[in-house]
Amino acid sequence: MDIVQTGSWGFGEGPLIIAGPCSAESEEQLMATARALKATGRVHLLRAGLWKPRSRPSSFTGEGFRALEWLRRVKAETGLPVAVEVASPEHARAAIEAGVDAVWLGARTVSNPFSVDAIAAALRGTDMPVMVKNPLSPDLDLWVGAIERVYSAGIRKIAAIHRGFTPYDKSRYRNLPKWELAIELRSRIPSLPVICDPSHMSGKASLVPETAQKALDMNMAGLMIEVHHDPARALSDKEQQLTPDEFDKMMGSLLFRSSTSGDIGFINHLEELRNRIDSIDHQLIGLLASRMRISEEMGEYKCRSGVTVFQLERWLEILESRTQHGISEGLDSEFVGKVIRMIHEESIRCQDVVIKKLHDAGGCPPAGSDGENE
Ligand code: PEP
Ligand code: MN
Repeated sequence: MDIVQTGSWGFGEGPLIIAGPCSAESEEQLMATARALKATGRVHLLRAGLWKPRSRPSSFTGEGFRALEWLRRVKAETGLPVAVEVASPEHARAAIEAGVDAVWLGARTVSNPFSVDAIAAALRGTDMPVMVKNPLSPDLDLWVGAIERVYSAGIRKIAAIHRGFTPYDKSRYRNLPKWELAIELRSRIPSLPVICDPSHMSGKASLVPETAQKALDMNMAGLMIEVHHDPARALSDKEQQLTPDEFDKMMGSLLFRSSTSGDIGFINHLEELRNRIDSIDHQLIGLLASRMRISEEMGEYKCRSGVTVFQLERWLEILESRTQHGISEGLDSEFVGKVIRMIHEESIRCQDVVIKKLHDAGGCPPAGSDGENE
């Protein structure tokens, strides 16, 4: 794909820094936030949501079309270019008319190909930069498909925004990063700039800086950060918005990868390999955690059933089958044996902890603890 890189969108060079409130709430709020952001000298593009896609209709749904006028004034006064989320062709047409400098498609919109087609059609023939957030579910084809739809409308200033995916379990993040999907997107469309939105990923202000650093370490093309002049009073996403001061401090402490020293081709390749390793390690840890949770469940099940039978055959079978599998994958048999022994030991420890807890609580009959198998 013949995509224009963010550095050539006219907002400045280096990683594209987008900051601003989740929602435009009033002209005063927008102006106060924009002035403070402008003063940091660290922002290329001011963001604000005018039409807010909220889960519940009773929540604040944005100030809508009338806020475009506020943005026009903010832009005139501060000189900051502005970006808004568009969720319909009407939004897109109004944004073009109001002189908005860039638009993005939100996660909910990207989940619906009909909406993406309709918005792309409304943008056809313009030079508008369009950023496409990932869909709510970790469906890479849906994300790529939305980018293709925008591209097919003749738009060439395109970037993706990685904002994470809806978790179905309790999670540290509001939206799971699943970094491997951003890596996979970049390998599918190598010319596509991918910007990270650590605010929606984190869901809480305290987690934004480390998530932003992780994104920069992964060589992302920019950051979109939610900043509100008074987050405690924000009408949407108050937990995750930074104050302008917090934003300034964070930006000052983030380590931006130097692209001036050394052979950049080599550095990029090395970084890509490291990202793949990071992603695999992340998955390995997740898999180990899932395995241990099953062990705990097994411990509880055995305990409640009064079963504590040591099955040497089961362990020997595990060791043998995993070692053979490892050898067939080209791994050293001694290494596989060591790893599987360590995992098995930890699994037994997890079972024991659960069994002891249950005994102490009188939840199952006392047993001669010989339950050291899986
Ligand atoms: C937003 O950027 O304020 C927004 C609604 O984001 P998302 O589409 O990522 O949920
Ligand atoms: Mn938001």
